[in-house]
Amino acid sequence: MTLDKLTKEFKKHFPDDEVGAQVIAKAFVFAKNAHKNQKRASGENYFVHLFETAFKLASWQLDYQSISAGLLHDTIEDCGVSVQEVKDKFGEEISFLVEGVTKLGNIKYKEEEQSIESLRKMILAISKDLRVIFIKLADRLHNMKTLNHIPIQKQKRIALETAEIYAPIAYRLGMQNIAGELEDLAFPYIYPEKHRWLIGSVKESYDERMKYLKKVEPIVLTNLKKAGIVPVSLDYRAKRLYSLYKKLLRYDLNLENIYDLIALRIIVKNVEECYLALGVIHQTWPPLPGRIKDYIALPKPNGYQSLHTTVFCVDDKPTEFQIRTDEMHEQAENGSAAHWFYESKKGKDDYNQGKISAVDSKETIWTKQLKEWQNQFPGSKEFIEALKIDFFSDRIFVLTPEGKVVDLPVGSTPVDFAYYIHSNIGDSCAGAKINNKIAPLDTPLQSGDIVDILTQKNKRASENWLNFVKTHYAKRKIKYSIKKSTSTTKKTEYKIACKSRIGLIKDITTIISRNHFPVIKMETFLNDKYPFIRLVIGAENKEKAENLMLKIKKVEGVKEIGYKLID
Ligand code: MN
Repeated sequence: MTLDKLTKEFKKHFPDDEVGAQVIAKAFVFAKNAHKNQKRASGENYFVHLFETAFKLASWQLDYQSISAGLLHDTIEDCGVSVQEVKDKFGEEISFLVEGVTKLGNIKYKEEEQSIESLRKMILAISKDLRVIFIKLADRLHNMKTLNHIPIQKQKRIALETAEIYAPIAYRLGMQNIAGELEDLAFPYIYPEKHRWLIGSVKESYDERMKYLKKVEPIVLTNLKKAGIVPVSLDYRAKRLYSLYKKLLRYDLNLENIYDLIALRIIVKNVEECYLALGVIHQTWPPLPGRIKDYIALPKPNGYQSLHTTVFCVDDKPTEFQIRTDEMHEQAENGSAAHWFYESKKGKDDYNQGKISAVDSKETIWTKQLKEWQNQFPGSKEFIEALKIDFFSDRIFVLTPEGKVVDLPVGSTPVDFAYYIHSNIGDSCAGAKINNKIAPLDTPLQSGDIVDILTQKNKRASENWLNFVKTHYAKRKIKYSIKKSTSTTKKTEYKIACKSRIGLIKDITTIISRNHFPVIKMETFLNDKYPFIRLVIGAENKEKAENLMLKIKKVEGVKEIGYKLID
């Protein structure tokens, strides 16, 4: 847990980046101080968590900004450090990352949430930068490893959130290793009994399989060598427990039917050798029909590339082989993080020469990355769609104070939000808090904002809102509310024939106001041959209108009076 260890890991991939190493050192000290008196639920110093998060990021070959943000990621939430302070001390880019992670922390997963998919998308939309997600994944990985220390009720929620939200995101970003690890960490908390059963029944099978594969290994090596192939490495890939469990559900829980419980993984130098090695395996043992998968020619949507085959191996036992290059292996393990690393190295010179600003580089790299994926995997619609839909199109995701996700068009305001929640809340909306600060009702909301609507009884929709609301739904509801409120107060028009007299108008208006009717319009024609007054007041019904008429009739100088109800 020393700075040395962290710097060393960083320098493995960025040997000349002294500036980066200095920033990491500064963040290290800052975070250590900020969390000085805090403990984790495990009793450990809180800083352990930040160190582990940052170290993981360094091992994914991420840049110093990500590693520093990893160290600082809980300072705003847990230590009351302001965004401004992080910005002043570490600059725009790092504070952007820290703030992004803080925003993600506000999202609360609820089991009954109908749209897990929109939650996943929202996380991508809020993040705006893949590095925010990497930091969140590193953070979650450490939290999952220490989950046994927190209260049981919370354990299950966090484990579910991990398996349902974060593992699929990691998978989608091509980080299958992380996805699998997150799932396996969550598994015992979600299905404790099934987990125990599987561990028990799989143990023996695993041991047996390993012993068996040890017999297979020398045969593979010899035959590859005959074909002129010396593998970069050859190892065993044990199927992850949670994915094994999911597979078993499809195979009647019968372990006998799972051929890839442990697979032999052959890493070779290049693509040609991959196909060559596949040929060697098929010459040695006959393949099972329908189990040869060429993910090199047709990569999985998340970018995974490899050749898979199952053969009737030694003693006719079905056995899976995976063959790929070093580069494909790296991509399979760390996915986008590895990708990001190459990108950021490529873009670094431009960045240093001031050709692109920090914000530009963030946006262009994210955009470029999506475009690149699109070119690389033209058939992988699902993946690209999932990443881009809400990011590039016109939706934002905001949260209720309870952490419920609300999905609105870009430019939506607190009034749109209020009507989305309920039309009564919309109608009685008197003010709004955005991220705990009072904000004007026409403020455009941003993804990740927490919106709290302040209501007032008997308040009505305001016509002015129509000038800024974005959603058709809110518009319709506002119009409806206005119409309703005006149509219930009927107006009455009086025509009063009178003698012109000083004080006449005052006497009439006094009567009206004593009876609490609002005057809407008053016109006097006192210089006409037959002087008269036209008066429109807000009297709701015939009875009240007539009652008032009788009172006005008694005023001195009033000769005749008639009325009609108008809209
Ligand atoms: Mn954390």
